Parts: sequence; C-alpha cells; structure tokens
Amino acid sequence: MPAIASRYAVFGHPIAHSLSPRLHALFATQTGVALEYNAIDATPDAFADTVRTFFARGGRGANVTLPHKAAAFALADVRTVTAQRLGVANVLTVLPDGRIDADSNDGASMLADMRGRCGIDPRGSEVLLLGAGGAARAAAFALLDAGIRGVTIANRTTERAHALAAALADAGRVRVVRWEDLESGRPFELIVNATSAGVQRTTLELPSSLAHARTAAYDLSYGPAARPFIGWAKQAGCGSTFDGLGMLVETAAASFQRWHGVRPHTDAALKELSADSRS
Ligand code: NDP
Repeated sequence: MPAIASRYAVFGHPIAHSLSPRLHALFATQTGVALEYNAIDATPDAFADTVRTFFARGGRGANVTLPHKAAAFALADVRTVTAQRLGVANVLTVLPDGRIDADSNDGASMLADMRGRCGIDPRGSEVLLLGAGGAARAAAFALLDAGIRGVTIANRTTERAHALAAALADAGRVRVVRWEDLESGRPFELIVNATSAGVQRTTLELPSSLAHARTAAYDLSYGPAARPFIGWAKQAGCGSTFDGLGMLVETAAASFQRWHGVRPHTDAALKELSADSRS
C-alpha cells in the first residue's frame, strides 16, 4: 500500500512564481518521502486564518515568503532563538503536541550556500551589505555570527540602516554609510545585495571603487532579478559573482530536513533550477 502523503505548503502574496513546490517535489523523489506540497496565495488580511485552517485540516509544515514573514512569527505558539532575534519566520512546523513552531533559516541557508557552492569563507572579511529589510537583517546576523571582521550597511533609506545597526548591537563591527557616500569608499572583500531593487529591474547606483579582483559579489535575488547587480559586479571587476538561487535551494533543503528528518541533495536540484532561471 502506498504511503499516505503528508501535506505542506508555501504561503505568499503573490505566490504563483514560487519555486518551492518544484523543489520539494524534487527532494521527495530523491528521498522517497511521500508528500503533497502546494503554493497557497493568501492576502495579508487572510494570512493567519488561511494558515490555521491549513494546519487544522492536517497540514504539517509551511514555508512563508513575502509579505508574511512577520505575521508567521506572530501567529506561532513557540519560536526558535533565531526567529526571536529576527522577529520573522519563514518556516512553520506543527509540533507533536499541536503547537506551531516558527523558525527562520534564511541566514543559515545563505551561509551554507556561500561556503558550499560559492567557496566563500566570510571569516575575517570586510562586508558591504546593501539593504536593511528582512533579508538584510537575517544576512547581517548570520555574517556576524560567522566571524566577519566588520559590516558596512548602506540602504536607500538611511534611517532603516541605523535601525538595523542598532538591532545588531555590535558597534565594534557594524557601521552605517549613506548611499551617496559609497562613492568615496574603498573596496570590500564581500558585497551582499539584500535589496529588492532587482525585482523591480532597477540598477543600483554603485561606484566601481567598491570592488577589486578579490571581491565576491553575492545577490540574494536570482533569475532576471539578479541581472542588474551581477552585471554591475562583473563590470566593476569583482573576482566572483553569485545569485541567490543556491540560497533558495538551501532554504528549501533545510525545511525539508526539519520536517522529514532527511537531508536532500541540493546540487541536482540547483542544476535543474539554474537552467530555468537563465531563461
Ligand atoms: P524587504 O521589502 O524587507 O526589503 C527590501 C530592501 O530593498 C529595503 O532595504 C529597501 O530599501 C531596498 N530597496 C527596495 N527597492 C529599492 C531600490 N529601487 N533601490 C534601492 N534599494 C531598494 O525585502 P526582503 O529583505 O525580504 O528581500 C530582499 C530581497 O532578498 C528580495 O529580492 C528577495 O527576493 C530576496 N530574498 C532572497 C531569498 C533567497 O532565498 N534567495 C530569501 C529572502 C529574500 P528601503 O528601506 O529604502 O525601502
């Protein structure tokens, strides 16, 4: 008799573009786990009720993406230390006692991708972080935990960069620079783009003095959204450039492992998705 598939989903708005159902289906095939995984569109007003209904009807776990990560954190009964630190969650899991657990694996997944796929060891690096939204926050905590020498945060809205710096509470290693002052900056070893400018097909105004041949440029966006920043990075002379597809795959793999207790192979999945994202 075939195993009964347990139910999982990704919630977002919009969500039709999500690669998560495909990734979880690939992982399920790889590992022989029987599961059902759907993309569910929920407006901000309907999010909490939609998720609760999903779990009440047997859903076992959910990924959560824009714009619901703070709402996912708020509706949970228990929260991991990482989620508490960030105030957002991208993974919800029903615990054996029925409570909903919230976790954030964005930062850890970015680091896993940097170390595993990109060959970037951030320890001791001077990092320029572009952006101060939710993803930048996860990236900044993860990079500081990983032992970077320092991080300079630049954001379109400088006040938000200051708010992020305050939350990081590491004055010795965290600086804020106004976007317009980047012009006078020196090169960084790692530049992380955690803005959503690329999603709007906007090219960030960045001077090439930020880069040299040993600079690694890492964009959290992927597919066409990563093209403007990656294009700038290549032109500016960065030694290596990476988009965020690998991070997305790592995020899905970490969720899969959390729910099913088995770690899927990410390389094959990444290869398959890379071909699509180039189109
Ligand atoms: P948020 O909405 O929380 O933050 C957006 C950030 O981008 C803010 O700092 C904002 O600046 C900045 N920004 C937006 N538009 C522009 C622009 N035109 N020029 C300059 N800065 C701009 O989004 P998230 O932090 O959640 O996501 C950021 C990006 O990271 C998205 O592209 C998302 O897809 C990607 N991401 C990728 C993941 C992966 O697995 N690969 C995981 C999570 C996120 P301001 O404060 O001034 O508005």
